[in-house]
Amino acid sequence: MNKIYLLFVVIFLSVGCKSWQATTLKFPDPVDTVDVPVQMQERKTWIIDGVSADNRFLTAHLNDFQQENDSTFRAIISPENEPINPSPWYAFKLWSTEERKIDLVLDYENAKQRYFPKISYNGRDWQPLDSSLFSIEDKKNARLKLALSSDTLWLAGQVPVSSQDVADWCRKLDQHPEVQWSTYGKSKLNRDLWMLNLGAGSDKGKPTIVLLCRQHPPEVTGWEALKPFVETILADTEIARRFRAQYRVLLFPLLNPDGVDLGFWRHNAGGIDLNRDWAYYRQPEIRQTADCIVNEVKKNRGTVVMGLDFHSTYKDVYYTNEEDLLRPALKGFKDKWLGEIKATLPDFSFRESSSNLGKPVSKSWFLTQFGAIGITYEIGDDTPQEVIRQKGRVSAEKMMGLLLGWD
Ligand SMILES: [Zn+2]
Repeated sequence: MNKIYLLFVVIFLSVGCKSWQATTLKFPDPVDTVDVPVQMQERKTWIIDGVSADNRFLTAHLNDFQQENDSTFRAIISPENEPINPSPWYAFKLWSTEERKIDLVLDYENAKQRYFPKISYNGRDWQPLDSSLFSIEDKKNARLKLALSSDTLWLAGQVPVSSQDVADWCRKLDQHPEVQWSTYGKSKLNRDLWMLNLGAGSDKGKPTIVLLCRQHPPEVTGWEALKPFVETILADTEIARRFRAQYRVLLFPLLNPDGVDLGFWRHNAGGIDLNRDWAYYRQPEIRQTADCIVNEVKKNRGTVVMGLDFHSTYKDVYYTNEEDLLRPALKGFKDKWLGEIKATLPDFSFRESSSNLGKPVSKSWFLTQFGAIGITYEIGDDTPQEVIRQKGRVSAEKMMGLLLGWD
């Protein structure tokens, strides 16, 4: 083999294997995302005076269980570390050897009540606790009146959705001929990071929509909004088929699997709010996700049109970016899209809050990395299921319709 031929082979191989990385970015309000320690719960069953409490399941959160008097028990719910956004997530099981009525105080330490209790008797079918059995103490902790028996009572801040539940949904989507489900990395504690690639035919040169979910573990209503959005894109409708032929969707359904399965309030196993790490990528979940997106898009010579990141907060709101840094071809799209959603669902609450670049959050990363539209799609903690589903479907339909006609 002559030297020149060998040189070509080396160049070809290195180009062929090249993988791209996300660019480090400077944001106006940087956030230190270097690891800090987290406090893990002790996984156990407490048994006190015939009453048992248990946190040994995925998504469970209960730090301590105490008896105050004959009829009152106290569940201590403390965060993985501090400072932290006050999203006191709890999930645990209760039962009693004898039928018994108790008062249960949910003690959030420094935080206030946020998630109204949901109950289940089998861990699958959930409903909100009867509101007459719920009150707030000292403007902070919740007091619940519960009837216990030897039947297990499950109690949680939202219907728990673990990494296994997400995997079940991905497995179902993966049956679709235009979906490929893959693992692109590992979390800090070695759980899988998943991507689903949606689209018909070749990925080459396609404009791409990126969907992110569950950077923040308790934000289950955001997850509930993602599902109808994706299912509408994969539906057997004319508009969806045309959309999948022209566009590609990269879906990252579970960015913080450690935090989700460990029942964290907000952070990952590095003790960091992942949605502040989109500048320096110090946490493995964001490093690998950002690189994966950049690499997938560049190796296919595609472009990112829009990134949507699904979350939950107190009310439904779309957090958007100012358009100064947006690629000119995309200007006006966001206003038109949100306007159509609002006009189609006039009875639903609609809020948009637009801001300039600030902290390194994903919506701003899409703008700075790609000049793309970035939106944090927030659903209220208490938004009813049917509203979430209808909004998800309409949002996806309007997005597809507008993008198919967009130059
Ligand atoms: Zn969030």
